[in-house]
Amino acid sequence: MSKLSFEQIFMNLATDLAKRSHCVKAQVGAVLTKDTRIISVGYNGPPASTHNCDEEWPETGCPRDARGSCSLALHAEENTILYAVKNGAKLEGATMYTTLSPCLACARLIYSAGITKVYYRHSYAAYKGFPNDEGVDFLNCFGVVTRKFEEQPVVSA
Ligand SMILES: [Zn+2]
Ligand SMILES: [Zn+2]
Repeated sequence: MSKLSFEQIFMNLATDLAKRSHCVKAQVGAVLTKDTRIISVGYNGPPASTHNCDEEWPETGCPRDARGSCSLALHAEENTILYAVKNGAKLEGATMYTTLSPCLACARLIYSAGITKVYYRHSYAAYKGFPNDEGVDFLNCFGVVTRKFEEQPVVSA
């Protein structure tokens, strides 16, 4: 019997969730897990029942902030952590899977929430054209383990 690893399953889910985002520019998905179970999931976008950027501004895109990001959206990591916290989940020792490495603001949130490991598929710095992944650097600096995700071949188990 060949089976996917849990890491691969969770990253696949984050990747599928990203496709639900209404964001015009970047679509990011995240999954929060503990052991082999899922605590929360999310993707980037404005708070529920406020805006759908792609439908409201299909031509121009939504209003930008000073860094060129959507000024309305919560990031996938923020949405995922917020949902977990709203529902009383314990995040201490949790692992996050995200399709784009955390920005600095999300990194601060991840660390403060007690999340201890982050898998990411793509580099935020590479996507933004920044010289380094300051979110990843922040996490590493304070002992949160970060891993650039490697596709895992199906293993026999
Ligand atoms: Zn937007
Ligand atoms: Zn972020």
